[in-house]
Amino acid sequence: LLIEKGVAMGWTYDPTNIFARILRGEIPNRTVMETPHTLVFHDIRAQAPVHVLVIPKGAYVSLDHFAAEAPEAEIVDFHRTVAKTCAILGLSGADGFRAICNTGEHGHQEVPHYHLHILGGRPMGRMVEPV
Ligand code: 5GP
Repeated sequence: LLIEKGVAMGWTYDPTNIFARILRGEIPNRTVMETPHTLVFHDIRAQAPVHVLVIPKGAYVSLDHFAAEAPEAEIVDFHRTVAKTCAILGLSGADGFRAICNTGEHGHQEVPHYHLHILGGRPMGRMVEPV
């Protein structure tokens, strides 16, 4: 029985998710920058003066899916794009920023296409609030 690796790991990609629709051009976005493998756009409900989402163009559900299965060129491009984004948005200085990657149910991930939130422009508070 042949089982695709991603499916065996529980990484079943849903091509109807909202970021897949953005990538197909079905929904508009405010693009910060784009490369052959990566798209950066402003979050529609910004939670800080700067709040952008960095997403791979490939069909990856989560950080661990992307890190396990994406070709190296896509992984390198993603992270170089993070660096360029921080520079473009003025986040590369001493003030810094917060990068968040919510994953799965415990991580409270709402959109099942891997995305890295980059937030800045104000102190972001503690990493995780006490429950
Ligand atoms: P998650 O909870 O999955 O880590 O975050 C999903 C993020 O996607 C949220 O911050 C939400 O505001 C953002 N988002 C959801 N739908 C859209 C959309 O249609 N356009 C944009 N630009 N952001 C969206």
